[in-house]
Amino acid sequence: MIRSVFFHINPRMWFAYVRNKDNRTVHESAKLTAVSALVHNFIMKAGQGYSGQISIWLRRLMRNTKLMTYGEQKEFAKELVKNEIEDINANPWGYCLLKTRTRERAKCATGGEPQRHNAAPDICLGCANNLMQEDNSDWNLLHIQAHVEALRNPDVPKSFKLASYDIVSKVARHVRAINPAHEALNEIDELINNFERVQYNVEVF
Ligand code: SF4
Repeated sequence: MIRSVFFHINPRMWFAYVRNKDNRTVHESAKLTAVSALVHNFIMKAGQGYSGQISIWLRRLMRNTKLMTYGEQKEFAKELVKNEIEDINANPWGYCLLKTRTRERAKCATGGEPQRHNAAPDICLGCANNLMQEDNSDWNLLHIQAHVEALRNPDVPKSFKLASYDIVSKVARHVRAINPAHEALNEIDELINNFERVQYNVEVF
């Protein structure tokens, strides 16, 4: 709210405002409730319609756990979050559920410490803490439009196209995991295949 009112978009200024000024107890409790609800929804939908590396981890946990009733599922989600997830951030491209045990392996980590203020689609989409749903999928498809155009344009140098190829491929993978029949996939797949054929001289079937 402070950022939007005063336009203090510089992270250094923003942190100067909020450092030590939040109500930690309320914040922690709200966080636990939000992440538990998210994980509980994931369990109720049996992981359908989700993507991101954390969804693979959650599915594996679910396979190893017999959850019968709604109450059991809810309790499981709460305990899981309490023991394994230390924080949540909601970004337009996906949730960041920071896992306690593997925090140093976060893609944004520097010296083993996650730098989540540096969050961006190109790093988060390949991170172990990323969880995505259909809304995120749509946002990501809009976000990569310029990269799709770059791949399509024969005048764009290959060195630039490589960065576009990377993010477009990541988004395509996530969109497919969420909805394999998504209407945007045909066109994106064709561009990716064409790029791979030219760049790596491989035949894609
Ligand atoms: S790279 Fe993104 S998803 Fe991963 S920990 Fe950092 S902010 Fe979260």
